[in-house]
Amino acid sequence: MNFNFTKEEELFVEEVKNFIKEEKKKSNADDVFAPNREADAQTKIDSPARREFMKILSSKGYLGMSWPKEYGGKEKPGIYDYILNEELCRVGAPSPGKGVGSIGQTIIHHGSNRIKDEFLPQILAGEIDFALGYSEPGAGSDLASLKLKAEKKDGGWLINGQKIWTSSAHVADWYWLAARTDPEAPKHKGISVFLVKMDDPGIEVHPIETVGEHATNSVFLTDVFIADEYVIGDVNNGWKYICEALNYERFTFYTIAPLEQKFKELVELINKLSRDGTPLNKIPEIRKKIIYLYADVQKAKVLQRKVLSVAIQDEVPQTEAAVFKLFSTKLHQKLANEAMDILGREGLFRKECQDSHANGKWEWSYRSTLVDTIGAGTTEIQKNTIAKKSLNLPL
Ligand SMILES: Cc1cc2nc3c(=O)[nH]c(=O)nc-3n(C[C@H](O)[C@H](O)[C@H](O)COP(=O)(O)OP(=O)(O)OC[C@H]3O[C@@H](n4cnc5c(N)ncnc54)[C@H](O)[C@@H]3O)c2cc1C
Repeated sequence: MNFNFTKEEELFVEEVKNFIKEEKKKSNADDVFAPNREADAQTKIDSPARREFMKILSSKGYLGMSWPKEYGGKEKPGIYDYILNEELCRVGAPSPGKGVGSIGQTIIHHGSNRIKDEFLPQILAGEIDFALGYSEPGAGSDLASLKLKAEKKDGGWLINGQKIWTSSAHVADWYWLAARTDPEAPKHKGISVFLVKMDDPGIEVHPIETVGEHATNSVFLTDVFIADEYVIGDVNNGWKYICEALNYERFTFYTIAPLEQKFKELVELINKLSRDGTPLNKIPEIRKKIIYLYADVQKAKVLQRKVLSVAIQDEVPQTEAAVFKLFSTKLHQKLANEAMDILGREGLFRKECQDSHANGKWEWSYRSTLVDTIGAGTTEIQKNTIAKKSLNLPL
């Protein structure tokens, strides 16, 4: 059993770290890197510098490393995508997971030649951004209940209805959209996936404010016409593509670096600050908290390596991912909560307040990591997966 990277993989970690170090020296670095990853990255989501950064990743050959050569990739093992993603997330840089990891891979496997020719080169060049249109007001955990109506017309489909929680709909170029193409079929059988230009006049995007300042949206679609060539794969087979697209994210979706990074910063704070004249690092209660947190971060890391070890075999790490997501997202919340406790009154101050610690990082982190317990399957759904698949418990 070996939890370490190979020599080549270690060299790649170093290469990416050096690349990031150089990029951080550039004059626009503040608009690219968001050290308070979750919330900061959202406030910078529409910065042109972040889009430009994707093109730099492309010019370095970092996009599509695991794609087949025939589509411009390098056929490297998925672990390289994982390493790149971890290092980018550690510093709050834009991550290529959605376009390259999920949509690109699904297009490679199921897209027509027409779709491949149009989208794959643009994804590899870092030129386009996508929004994921799955959830609806009545379809979240039970996604197969989605109702967005797609009616067959001459040469295409007419779309009417609403999506909700579409992150980056206000900045994306294309909408990866799931709609109901056969209302009579059983719910998993009548769904299709389309690609729609976000600037279609029938699309209205309304921002939703969230507790964590995560920029997300309601999207209303009125008489949006989509030509037949923009259907992914076979009509009514969309459920399969949705599940696959979610699976393809497995090398890039679940990160550990931001958690490690924040823990490191918390230890630095504790080594710097005092309470009533006593250094925080000498207070037994605080020492105990930090040591337990350290053990938890190590546990999360091992759980993530278990996910990777399955994904590397090209299998879907379903229960491993559920255990890791359940544990690590709760831990992220716990870390921020403990930090606020340790820092006392100032730990609760927002970034605008003069006396806030680390620019209000911890209260912000507490609010913004909440979304991690909801997206890509809520905590309860992860528990259901574990109960059913690992423990054979009734649901
Ligand atoms: C900030 C943010 C960004 C998002 N971005 C996107 C995006 O870009 N694209 C997209 O398509 N979606 C996005 N989502 C949607 C996200 O995937 C859904 O919110 C999530 O799947 C939960 O669905 P729901 O909100 O409809 O809640 P529901 O499914 O209605 O769940 C409500 C509550 O009931 C619980 N529950 C539901 N079913 C069960 C069950 N069977 N057993 C036990 N408990 C259950 C849930 O855990 C939850 O606590 C985003 C959400 C948020 C908050």
